[in-house]
Amino acid sequence: MNTNNKFAFALAASVGLALLAGCASNKSCCGSSGCAADSITSAPFGTVDGKSVELYTLKNKKGSVAKIMTYGGIVQSLQVPDKDGKLVDVTLGYDKLDSYVSNSPYFGALVGRYGNRIGAGKFTLNGNTYTLATNNGVNHLHGGLKGFDKRVWSATPLKRENGPALQLSNRSVDGEEGYPGNLDVVAVYSLTDNNELKVSYTAKTDKATVVNLTHHSYFNLSGGGTILDHYVYINADKTTPVDSGLITTGEMKPVDGTPFDFRKTTTIGERIDNPDTVLQYGPGYDHNWVINQKKPGEITLQARVTSPKTGIAMEVLSDEPCLQFYAGNFLDGTITGKGGQVYQRRNGFCMEPQHAPDSPNKPNWPSVVLKPGQRFHNTIIYKFSAK
Ligand code: BGC
Repeated sequence: MNTNNKFAFALAASVGLALLAGCASNKSCCGSSGCAADSITSAPFGTVDGKSVELYTLKNKKGSVAKIMTYGGIVQSLQVPDKDGKLVDVTLGYDKLDSYVSNSPYFGALVGRYGNRIGAGKFTLNGNTYTLATNNGVNHLHGGLKGFDKRVWSATPLKRENGPALQLSNRSVDGEEGYPGNLDVVAVYSLTDNNELKVSYTAKTDKATVVNLTHHSYFNLSGGGTILDHYVYINADKTTPVDSGLITTGEMKPVDGTPFDFRKTTTIGERIDNPDTVLQYGPGYDHNWVINQKKPGEITLQARVTSPKTGIAMEVLSDEPCLQFYAGNFLDGTITGKGGQVYQRRNGFCMEPQHAPDSPNKPNWPSVVLKPGQRFHNTIIYKFSAK
């Protein structure tokens, strides 16, 4: 869609008036900057592969702001109120498109076709062995050399009653990065008036394939600096241990008595350098937790993270069975991001609801196979509050 024209919409007058009336009687629903109408606007953000890239700005009635670009479906900025009502950008990233194109560790991106790793970049489906692009040593990571994070998506702004939304769509052709089937993917971002950033994916294919779609924002709920002081709760009794290439071994191991037990809220830093975490499983937290779901496919609270500095809390909810919690171990001070901030090791963390890594090679784990006639659907919610 050609989006060179700037546009904005306010909710229909009647709904808008009702919202304003609600805010007038209850100041806390408006934040410190007063009541605002929901809106979505767009502006050009540069070009990639000769295609123009747009940056959409979504605002909800609490004044929270999400800036999302059509390149990679990347959340370039997410501003939510802290305990004093001041807006804080809680995501890492860059000010300019070129930096995302030249060097980004998946900042803010939509990730697919397969989020996370597939061992040796190979899997077998219906008797055929598929060889994928390898881009992480001998393994396949986050969809390969040109995954969904590096594609320009087609955008359509949507009107919703509880906040602005942006629909992004993309066709991944048969054979792309080695995957079978033409896969049509639609991702809808919404910034709800409850201060949730929600991602809903749907996908369909014309040949049996594997799909694992997730979101890759790096969060820092203090707005910068270390994340080691953030408090984390994870609703999981088990993790999936990995080998030295961070490929799951096939076990599901109870978290009891290990640094992976976040059933009692603990800071990220407290046990991250415990030899068990570093030596046995990888370089700090970069693991998959198996979520305690009452029913498969039920939207469940997966994790809660809180900054002691801003009082901002983020809940992660999803219908996905697992959660990858990555503590930014590979950030190393070589990236200068938004506003000149240098991102040091563990200055950002990712919470990626998904299926377990390397599931295509783990026949006993929940299936990631999508067949013609079926419809893939998942929901990922990051819900913010502050006190
Ligand atoms: C993975 C990390 C990887 C990072 C890339 C995360 O989802 O778990 O191992 O380094 O993405 O930015």
